[in-house]
Amino acid sequence: MATKNEALLIATRNAHKTGEFQQIFGERYQVSDLSAYPDLPEVEETGTTFDDNSRLKAVEISQQVPEVLIMADDSGLEVDALNNAPGVYSARYSGPAATDASNRAFLLENLNKTEARGKQRAGRFRCVLTLAKGGKMLHQTSGAVEGIITNEEKGDGGFGYDPLFVPEGECQTFAQLPASTKHAMSHRGRAVAQMVRFMQEHQLL
Ligand code: IMP
Repeated sequence: MATKNEALLIATRNAHKTGEFQQIFGERYQVSDLSAYPDLPEVEETGTTFDDNSRLKAVEISQQVPEVLIMADDSGLEVDALNNAPGVYSARYSGPAATDASNRAFLLENLNKTEARGKQRAGRFRCVLTLAKGGKMLHQTSGAVEGIITNEEKGDGGFGYDPLFVPEGECQTFAQLPASTKHAMSHRGRAVAQMVRFMQEHQLL
């Protein structure tokens, strides 16, 4: 694959997400995020779907920073026994002052109330990526990974709900597995692989 080392701005202030993009893209792109633009206003995630919120973030940031290629990620966890919650509200599931730890505790609390056991604790991570430049959406891709929600937290790696999620075909959570194993099967890794194909076809990579 060609090495171009172009600039790609990830429309996020979540350093964990940026770190994952950096690892997935490796040398091919110089990945930065909105921490380089402290004065930009927050994009309000007013959509009710991952597609809408991903597009909103990419298009709005690409209007503010028109010269750079922008990639937005909207992602989250859906749990069957919770009617697909927390879904698009994954980052703020436990309230306005939510942290990853408080969201995980709230998820376990809610799931334990349902008495879901074993495979009934099924769920999936979803990720929708949007590429935009100069206020225009160029392309959108999505990825998902099925798995089971554990009864307790396991592992120190990753971020968000990773310590509670065992992907299909594995016995350990995303927080226990090596990062490279997570990226090879994750919602984000899958959405990026499709986006890379588009970028190659359109000489953006
Ligand atoms: P967003 O910034 O609105 O897209 O929120 C994404 C939220 O979903 C994050 O804050 C995490 O809680 C969760 N999430 C997304 N991707 C992952 C992942 O790869 N591992 C664990 N949690 C994730």
